[in-house]
Amino acid sequence: MEHLRTEEVEILTKKHLMNTYGRAGISLTEGSGARVRDAEGREYLDFVSGIAVCGLGHCHPRVVAAIREQAGRLMHCSNLYHIEAQALLAKMLLEDSPFGKAFFCNSGTEANEAAIKLARKYARVKHGDARCEIVTALKSFHGRTLGSLTATGQPKYQKDFGPLPAGFTYVPFNDISAMERAVTEKTAAVLIEPIQGEGGIHVADEKYIRRARELCDETGAILIMDEVQTGMGRTGKMFAFQHFGIVPDAITLAKSLGGGFPIGALLAKDEVAEVFTPGTHAATFGGNPLACAASLAVLKTIREEGILDHVVAVSRFLFKMLEELKGRCPQITEIRGRGLMVGIEVLGRSDTGVEDPAKLICLQCAREGLLVNAVTDTTVRLLPPLIIGEAEVREAVDIMERVMTTVFG
Ligand SMILES: *Cc1c(COP(=O)(O)O)cnc(C)c1O
Repeated sequence: MEHLRTEEVEILTKKHLMNTYGRAGISLTEGSGARVRDAEGREYLDFVSGIAVCGLGHCHPRVVAAIREQAGRLMHCSNLYHIEAQALLAKMLLEDSPFGKAFFCNSGTEANEAAIKLARKYARVKHGDARCEIVTALKSFHGRTLGSLTATGQPKYQKDFGPLPAGFTYVPFNDISAMERAVTEKTAAVLIEPIQGEGGIHVADEKYIRRARELCDETGAILIMDEVQTGMGRTGKMFAFQHFGIVPDAITLAKSLGGGFPIGALLAKDEVAEVFTPGTHAATFGGNPLACAASLAVLKTIREEGILDHVVAVSRFLFKMLEELKGRCPQITEIRGRGLMVGIEVLGRSDTGVEDPAKLICLQCAREGLLVNAVTDTTVRLLPPLIIGEAEVREAVDIMERVMTTVFG
């Protein structure tokens, strides 16, 4: 198929789109599995996966078939009516979880908005009016709409958008005593990522999450885990909270839930979910037939094709390769993460004189045919599709080694 050249797309983008993204000078036009191709026909090994969205790789045949089939039958009908695919998807998602009910929306930020509203309504019904506070972590990321932006414990995202909604407090991540001080009889919910993604791939300590669970139990607050990035097998379990030996009261999902098609979800225990009644929350597009058909295909594939076991095995190989790379490359200071959600920490400018090293590494990797992304000045993030094989891991690590050598001289 003929495509506009990258340069032409770039001109149109600059002219017509709001300047909200720092985009790489690449125009992607096709993808299959772990590979994507740009307008000039250059191929890339994709270790970004559309930011953990294309969990099963690009254009997974089962997802494509489900979308094609559903698109030809019924795309949308609204939640004024029953939706077969939505009901089946909820059933299947909940079967793999300790939760009782689902609410569907279209994105991570919407899932978190729904969770915040649910937590406040539940606190009001259960405890009365004084309880509305949401405790979240510094360096967290929960989205860009005003509620989830306020939940996001990073002033750089919030600045210029005030006044922000009241009732949010922030605690340093993995700091148990700060959490003990913050969670009180005023707390409606603790909202936390099991692994901070946008904040730089920081894995929560098991003790920390267990203590958060206890504090919520002691005070009557609910524990919500934001699994928008970690969910749907990314860490080797269906949901990352399953690594910690606790059960949250609710979780939020989006990103890879639809395998590339936009869909978000809030899952909650029955006792909490029941405070949502007709009219309390809604989304016009939420859980429409097309999105749910795509997501059902994703779930079936994860279940039937042994994806979780594969992630565990290939993750072990990836971490081994990266630790070996770290041994050969003194500028790598740490490999963090779990499953196929990985951060490579490199020395900063003050140590090497290299300005914005993570960004530079990403740029050079793209030139060498590997897509990775920078979450901080010094953290390169890897989010390969869950179907990645050892040969592709080897290829990616080889490219990163060449690039590190060039970047750090
Ligand atoms: C990406 C992300 C979000 C926001 O999701 P959107 O679909 O961009 O609104 C929220 N929470 C976490 C943990 C994320 O990684």
